[in-house]
Amino acid sequence: MQVSVDRDRCCSSGMCVTNAPEIFDQDDRDGLVLLRQTSFRPDQFADLRLATELCPGGAISLTESDAISLTEGSAISATESDAISATEGGA
Ligand code: SF4
Repeated sequence: MQVSVDRDRCCSSGMCVTNAPEIFDQDDRDGLVLLRQTSFRPDQFADLRLATELCPGGAISLTESDAISLTEGSAISATESDAISATEGGA
């Protein structure tokens, strides 16, 4: 899972810090979002998704990618990639 933030879209609401305080912080000078981590544990994924959904500025982008490859015996090979981007209004 990868997360990026667009500080140009951030309106300093602090919702991300409320919903995922381990992951997000706000700059002391301007209140804009800061990422505290660049890699994430699976138990943080729900908080990340919630923070992304509820960000009022649509400033958080979340990319989820999972790859499954069963090459031994050539039985199944599949790759799945999903991208979720919050839009203004959090929908
Ligand atoms: S919730 Fe969105 S708009 Fe609010 S501080 Fe975090 S990134 Fe910025």
